[in-house]
Amino acid sequence: MPEILEIEYYRLLAETALGREILSIEADQLASKRLETGIALTDIFSGLRFVAARRIGKLLVFDTEGPCFGLRFGMTGGLVVDGVAAIKGLTYGSESIEEKWVRARVTFQDGGTLALHDPRRLARVLVDPDEEALGPDALSLTLTQLKTALKSRGEGPALKARLLDQSAIAGIGNLLADEMLWRAALSPLRGAATLSEPELRRLHRHLRVTLDELFKRGGSHTGDHMEARHPGGMCPKDGQAFFRQAVGGRTTYWCPKHQS
Ligand SMILES: [Zn+2]
Repeated sequence: MPEILEIEYYRLLAETALGREILSIEADQLASKRLETGIALTDIFSGLRFVAARRIGKLLVFDTEGPCFGLRFGMTGGLVVDGVAAIKGLTYGSESIEEKWVRARVTFQDGGTLALHDPRRLARVLVDPDEEALGPDALSLTLTQLKTALKSRGEGPALKARLLDQSAIAGIGNLLADEMLWRAALSPLRGAATLSEPELRRLHRHLRVTLDELFKRGGSHTGDHMEARHPGGMCPKDGQAFFRQAVGGRTTYWCPKHQS
């Protein structure tokens, strides 16, 4: 699944689409599911240009001189600009770009295109997406913002569930949450508000380092705990058999020996 790091690669590619006049925008029925009925994207955006490509968590937002154009990528969505995929081989979908999986396409006056490619059909196109519904972005999260996200809503759910809550912190997905908790030696089951000051600082440090390292390595699937992410997998730090259970509705792998 594309997580924040993959969407940041998409955002970098999206910069090549800036400043080019939009001729038309088409989106299929499912990709348009969250738009007003009968809305015509071409009528709204034709003649405008994308002037900035921003990312808030896993949401990609293009500013224009008019409304914002937003993209959500779901489980397998990828971005393709002028036939070039943001991630080689579209790791999260198929191995190739297939026309039947193009769910939405922006065509520019110069003949180039920006396409949303999604085999699983969970990606969505948005007009003026609700940015207020998202918490602060994980890639630039400060210690104070992390404290607020974990402590400001009472006892709260399990720590991992709060990390995945996009209204608390925008951008942390399942693999990244498991990797940073494993590195920070914190159990995903801890109450979100129960972390001590040193534990908060430790989690913040590992959050930053995890995102930074995995971005440079090539994405959220490049974490150190990945080799043990299968039934019977052993912790790469201490050889303990990993626990596998659902936390926050997502399959979680964690080490009962060093994570507490
Ligand atoms: Zn361990």
